[in-house]
Amino acid sequence: MTDINVLVDELPRCGRCGGPTLLVVRVPHSLRRPDGVAIHGHRTVALCARCDAEDPVTSGVVAFFVVHESITADTLTAAAPVIREWIDHVTTHPPAYTDADLDDEIATWRAEHDTSGDDASGGGGPDGPDPS
Ligand SMILES: [Zn+2]
Repeated sequence: MTDINVLVDELPRCGRCGGPTLLVVRVPHSLRRPDGVAIHGHRTVALCARCDAEDPVTSGVVAFFVVHESITADTLTAAAPVIREWIDHVTTHPPAYTDADLDDEIATWRAEHDTSGDDASGGGGPDGPDPS
């Protein structure tokens, strides 16, 4: 059973460049732990105007938003085919989730939520003293 959600509001920042995203789709994915147990969940895939403009799969959606800025009732029929093409690709080529992806997401989250820390070791946490 495929459970796909397309988000157009309150979008996260791009995990690659930190810029705004155009659309976000949540697709089912699974990964196998080192002990062989399969973990099933959802992966959030964001479409970034900057990072995805050159990808043939996503360039149609990016071009749509360059021209139309947002999806309205009048532009829905123009948006649907390019968004469908992107979602079809995402669901048939689910992104592999790696440790590097996790590190990137953690770094992005920290950059957005902690402007005073410069701890790049990743082993600390929010418990250290922070003299101001
Ligand atoms: Zn980006």
